[in-house]
Amino acid sequence: MKIAVYPGSFDPITLGHLNIIRRAAKIFDRLYVCVMVNSAKNPMFTLEERMNLIRKVVGRFGNVEVEWSDKLLVEYALSKNASVIVKGLRAVSDFEMEYQLALTNKKLEPSIDTVFLAADEKYSYLSSTVVKEMAKYNANLSKFVPREIINDILDKSGGKR
Ligand code: ADP
Repeated sequence: MKIAVYPGSFDPITLGHLNIIRRAAKIFDRLYVCVMVNSAKNPMFTLEERMNLIRKVVGRFGNVEVEWSDKLLVEYALSKNASVIVKGLRAVSDFEMEYQLALTNKKLEPSIDTVFLAADEKYSYLSSTVVKEMAKYNANLSKFVPREIINDILDKSGGKR
């Protein structure tokens, strides 16, 4: 059984993240979406809220589980018997940092590989930061985040529905 971990801050989950989850869930037998505690310094959503938002939209995938971790990523992956870390690559600007992280994780734990999925071109500009900024100005979020969580984001950001 091929088990993979998809880590991130997911503050909040976007259509770009969901696109990676959908594709990774097809490739791997089980996918753990893991909200990493240290990766966001001043998150808008608490850990619990971020997990709940993800759970609202991944219910449709039978092989996806949502968790959080404050461990080293490779240690978390080992604890789940995962052999793969999944990352989405948006642009060349993502590459340098992600490549460095992948090599570091490989040094720490050679049994775990990082697999990069190229971001869908529709979402290659999209980040949680963009979503939070748009929400402040009451922008229409339907092109950025799953429909089910739009009101949660507007409520939190003080934006109007
Ligand atoms: P963000 O940069 O939006 O704060 P995260 O830290 O939550 O994102 O990112 C988790 C993972 O998802 C990373 O591998 C990141 O490259 C990937 N990712 C983020 N946004 C997108 C997107 N729009 N398309 C594809 N992958 C993405």
